[in-house]
Amino acid sequence: MTDTNAQTSGPTAAPPVLVLNAGSSSLKFQVVVPETGEKRAGGTIERIGESGSDVADHAAALKRMTDDLRADGVDLDSVPLRAVGHRVVHGGPDFSEPVVIDDAVLERVRELSALAPLHNPAAVTGIEAAREHFDVPHVAVFDTAFFSSLPPEASTYAVPRDLARKHAIRRYGFHGTSHQWVSRAAADLLGRPVGELRQVVLHLGNGCSASAVRGGVAVDTSMGLTPLQGLVMGTRSGDVDPGLHAYLGREAGLSLDEIDTLLNKKSGVLGLSGVNDFRELEKRLADGDTEARLAFDVVVHRLKHYVGAYLAVLGGIDVLVFTAGIGENSIALRAAVTEGLEGLGIAIDRARNGARSRQARVISPDGSPVVVAVVPTNEELAIARQTAELVG
Ligand code: ADP
Repeated sequence: MTDTNAQTSGPTAAPPVLVLNAGSSSLKFQVVVPETGEKRAGGTIERIGESGSDVADHAAALKRMTDDLRADGVDLDSVPLRAVGHRVVHGGPDFSEPVVIDDAVLERVRELSALAPLHNPAAVTGIEAAREHFDVPHVAVFDTAFFSSLPPEASTYAVPRDLARKHAIRRYGFHGTSHQWVSRAAADLLGRPVGELRQVVLHLGNGCSASAVRGGVAVDTSMGLTPLQGLVMGTRSGDVDPGLHAYLGREAGLSLDEIDTLLNKKSGVLGLSGVNDFRELEKRLADGDTEARLAFDVVVHRLKHYVGAYLAVLGGIDVLVFTAGIGENSIALRAAVTEGLEGLGIAIDRARNGARSRQARVISPDGSPVVVAVVPTNEELAIARQTAELVG
């Protein structure tokens, strides 16, 4: 139920930040020193509130976390915490930057649950419990914030303006903390200012998203009003014909909630192949499973679609970056996405792509017009840094 791994690496004077990522039935946590990136400890409490689980709610999960951390040598009662940084999925039209959480902010995050019913309610519960537990500043870091810079032509859906205004309908984008971190880290890797680079970033984890970043500023992204749009994901369909909803309602007799669940939880790689874990999919591919092959090909086709689109949006690119669990680890996926794109200046070096590493690295051949890179994401450290910056 709990998995912690303490990594104590020498004493540090600067007090750490506790980073929390509350899901509906899980709580991910990390104690990290923002300046050095030193990770004191981290882990996940799972099955919160599920039947048969001895962790009844998020308050109980925090108590469990504190006990586990103490057992691992990190006593939050004696180690002074600087602040708690909370990952919040949806910041809606209101939040384009991290904010210190007060009652009004918490209320607004709660109201934004209408836009992210699968995510924001859990964040609210996590924040409430953590504010009770830790008497330090709490900061909300929003997954949507990095994409508040999207130009209107990229963020606007072609639906009637009054309706869009009334219901705050627009493309918001998600995984922003990762896209921002990775685009800067890629510039560092190349030793070039982020301000002069045109980048396409592919964040490929359980959720997947692509972004077009010009000079460090996001100009387009594949996720939309909700995290359902865009790439094919572990259990989410990504792009479908919007007419599918009405069709399923009429022809399959599904309710709106059932369609929402179908597209968010039962589709994507899972719906196509029966498994959602990409490692498992790769095993089945190796065994010659035809459904796994189709799922892999659909994932790759959609990725190429977005790479091509963003190449056009940016008028050419300097860097293509792969990140997150699949992007950082799947040799086969990176090879397939870049295959046949030599005419666009995109190619990889087979040996570089095949080398296993946890470091940021270039996998394109020397002198290639587009640098293809693998850059590990670190959302917890990014949240810790933004939190520390805000609380001073
Ligand atoms: P999350 O979005 O939950 O943070 P991650 O970024 O950890 O998820 O990505 C999880 C995905 O990465 C899973 O589909 C997993 O199978 C995939 N993955 C992890 N390691 C590998 C690997 N060595 N090869 C291929 N896929 C991998």
